[in-house]
Order: sequence, then structure tokens, then C-alpha cells
Amino acid sequence: MAIDINPIENHREREKGVLVYPVYSRRSEGLSIGINLYPDIKQCSFDCPYCEVFPFSNNATFSIQQMKKDLRSAISSAQKENIPIKDICFSGNGEPTLSPDFPDALLLAETVRAEMAPSAQLVLITNGTGLLQPQIFSILKDLALRAERFDIWLKLDAGTPEWYKKINRSNIPLEKLTEKIHEFAASAPVTIQTMLCKINDTPPPPEEAEAWEALVCKLAVNGNIRKVQIYGKARPAPEDPLASKLDTDYLEQRAASLRRALAASAHTPMVDIYL
Ligand code: SF4
Repeated sequence: MAIDINPIENHREREKGVLVYPVYSRRSEGLSIGINLYPDIKQCSFDCPYCEVFPFSNNATFSIQQMKKDLRSAISSAQKENIPIKDICFSGNGEPTLSPDFPDALLLAETVRAEMAPSAQLVLITNGTGLLQPQIFSILKDLALRAERFDIWLKLDAGTPEWYKKINRSNIPLEKLTEKIHEFAASAPVTIQTMLCKINDTPPPPEEAEAWEALVCKLAVNGNIRKVQIYGKARPAPEDPLASKLDTDYLEQRAASLRRALAASAHTPMVDIYL
């Protein structure tokens, strides 16, 4: 597989039925090898208006054997070209933990990472709804406590049910989800990811900003938060312009306010912004 680092075009590869796709990641600031468990159709428990997965259909199927072959091939190609691999990342066309193949795929990726790319991180990007399944909760907790280079990037876009309804549009109650996130973060480390954007040209209201900040602080006090990643909308989405970019100043103010609140509580995970 040829490694072509293109920040936008390679994301489109995952809608063409590939299981493994190298991309340049703004979060990792380098080469990220993505794993896509849904080559044939998007599957997700959220319906975020900023979601970057465009409608697609094809007859591709996921298989562990093919994923193993493609992952090894992508790592070898990067190494032949002396391109450092920052991470191997589960994301793709939907929520990875919903796939019945996820547990096997995760353990396989960790084995291949440790053997072929030991300095790379293994990353799971998740909306957290998989934590409601006891088996997934347990697998993730075990790996997070055991593996040195495994990180869970957990989506937390809203602090109030009203904003959650707009930005994630899920039937799963926010309270139920945040309770489970608290339980998980109290037992294993996570990185929090938050998308800040306008919906219908409206920014998050002040009560939403306060509730989100209080929620993140509570998680940091009671749990193990490695980092908070705040994202601005940067890439095209099929529902554009329903979700749109906020001013950089707004994101910086929210990050600064969170940093102050975290410092006051003596729990200080890093807070980064990705524009
Ligand atoms: S959770 Fe991720 S994959 Fe699912 S709809 Fe939201 S942005 Fe898209």
C-alpha cells in the first residue's frame, strides 16, 4: 500500500471500502493509520450534524484476516519510507465499539502495534456508548490498565440534554451515558474530546458552556483524565451548513475558562485546541 499523506483526501478513502487507511492527523501531528470496521455502511449510535462521513455504499466486508494483512502492509510501507507512525487509530465510518468484530480487532491491533510499531500509540476514538455494554467496558478497562500505549479518546460534546439533542442527536439519555463515563474514568485513564461548533448558526448557550465545564471538572476530580481536546469544525460534512465553525476566540475562551476551573480544583489535565 502506498502511503500518501493527504489530510483530507485520505479520509475519503474509508468510504471506498478500505479497512486500513493512512492519514495525516492534526491531533497526532503525524501519520495515523486508521482502522475502519465499517467498510460497507456507516453505523453509529450518534447522529452528529458535523459528522464527516459522507453517504456511500459498496459491497466491501470487514474481516480480521484482511485487517491484519492491511495493517501490517501499511506499517511496513511507512517504515520503508522512514515516516514515523504516530498512532494506529480506530475510527472509520461510525462507532467502532458497536461492531461485533471490535474486541478481536482491538486485541489484534495491539499485538501488531507492539510487534511492528512499538513507539506508536493505539487509539480508540469513541462516542462512549459502548461503555454501556459490560463486555466492552471490561475489555477497554483491562487494556487501558495493561497496555502502555493505549489511549481512549472519548467524545463529550455536551453538558446539557438540550445541547446533546442538537449536537449528537442520540436516543441514549445523556445522564445515563455520563454516569457510565464517570464510572469508567474512575477506573481507567481517558482523553476527553469535545467538538465546539454552531448548530443552525447558534453557538452553545452560556448554560451549556457552564454545564460542560462542570462535567469535565467533575470527571477530572473523580477520575483519570489525561487530556482535554477541544475541536473546531475543520472539515466538510454532508449536512453542511447545519453545523458551522465558531470563532477561534470563542474556543480559546472556553479552553482558558476550563484551564482556570481545573487549576482551582488542583486537577490539571492538559487542555488543547485543534482548529
Ligand atoms: S459519533 Fe462520530 S461517527 Fe458517529 S455521528 Fe458523531 S461524528 Fe459521526
